[in-house]
Amino acid sequence: MGNTLATRMSRLGGEAAFELLIVIKALEEQGKRVICLNIGEPDFDTPGHIIEAAVTALQSHDTHYTPSPGRKNAREAVARYVTDTRGVPTTWEQVTIFPGAKPAIFLSMMATLNDGDEVVYPDPGYPTYASVANFLGATCTPYILREELGFRTQIDDLAKLITGKTRMLVLNSPQNPTGGVFTRQDLSDIADIVRGKDCYVLTDEIYMQIAYGTQAASFYSAPGIADQTILLDGWSKAYAMTGWRLGFTVTNQPLARGLGLLMTNSNSCAAAFTQTAGIAALEGDHAPIASMVAEFERRRDLLVDGLNAIPGVKCHRPEGAFYVFPNVSSFGYPAKKIQDYLLSGASAAGIATPSGIDGVAALAGTAFGPHGEGYLRLSYANSQENLRFALEFIEIALSRIHEVLGAPATVAA
Ligand code: PLP
Repeated sequence: MGNTLATRMSRLGGEAAFELLIVIKALEEQGKRVICLNIGEPDFDTPGHIIEAAVTALQSHDTHYTPSPGRKNAREAVARYVTDTRGVPTTWEQVTIFPGAKPAIFLSMMATLNDGDEVVYPDPGYPTYASVANFLGATCTPYILREELGFRTQIDDLAKLITGKTRMLVLNSPQNPTGGVFTRQDLSDIADIVRGKDCYVLTDEIYMQIAYGTQAASFYSAPGIADQTILLDGWSKAYAMTGWRLGFTVTNQPLARGLGLLMTNSNSCAAAFTQTAGIAALEGDHAPIASMVAEFERRRDLLVDGLNAIPGVKCHRPEGAFYVFPNVSSFGYPAKKIQDYLLSGASAAGIATPSGIDGVAALAGTAFGPHGEGYLRLSYANSQENLRFALEFIEIALSRIHEVLGAPATVAA
């Protein structure tokens, strides 16, 4: 017939964050004023010196293919950056450059997982991990990130999940969606569990530069673990470069060669002038990043304090990324129902706020796995003014949620 899809396509998940954008657009076209706290990208502009580097590259006709694993000077810049920030001597041959961190997840899993292999991943967690692992025929086992541990995990529980068939453990710290950060001790204990086993650790450190208080620890820095680690990082979040599409992995050299081959067969290479801009980002002035992170920290405090002042809401103060993950289970509804209510249900029921907001876009914690039930993910990649408007709306809307939605049928976890 020509209209059937491969069986494996039924194992690929979508991403609620992207799907919600379409719903918000439709509401905005109806003239509704929605405060978007669903956004997974910095609301800051890419720093000027990075843009200038790309413009200069384009004007010098830096517009051709590069080697598939990335240009040597870009790979060298990443190796220097990783050596400096992780304290582990790293060579350019270990580095592969991709058009974003997401393709790096996809291709790293493709390069290392066989049918039936086990992957242990965080729940709640970034949905791509389980989606791609399932797609590739792996068996996925979640480990739970617990609010009472600051969205860290119980290491003894994690140890029990690592079996002889576990070929990959996925770590993400600082985390999406919770903002939680693993301690150096957590990472060292995890390294002790997997060291020497035939098991890769994919450590997604894309939010590494967005941490508050102390510098977040890197799994790659744990002793004797680099060879079995796939360090994943990129430019999207730290340098406000989501639309540029640029990410990297650092791996052992045989895996790096495999990843280069996958790049040859899929993307050919990341765009040439973006790689040049990427070098400028890593080696240029980091003052704009420091001021972005300082502003994120002020917004985090505004949002956490504001949410904790709302009756029925309990919000952990995260140490990284730009998300909060408030517990709204006391209202008794599934998180998705609260998501829909805040987005459009409250305003449809005539709830109005002094600032004239019609809705707040947040994501149900279940968009990140079953253990996200009872939580919402709110991003603070939005202005302090909009965060105040959103808090005011959430407070008024939640104070009337039982009146509008009726008694909850089930109590959320
Ligand atoms: N890893 C995590 C934990 C993320 O939150 C994201 C984006 O939201 C990515 C990877 C993907 O980053 P990129 O935009 O560079 O593909």
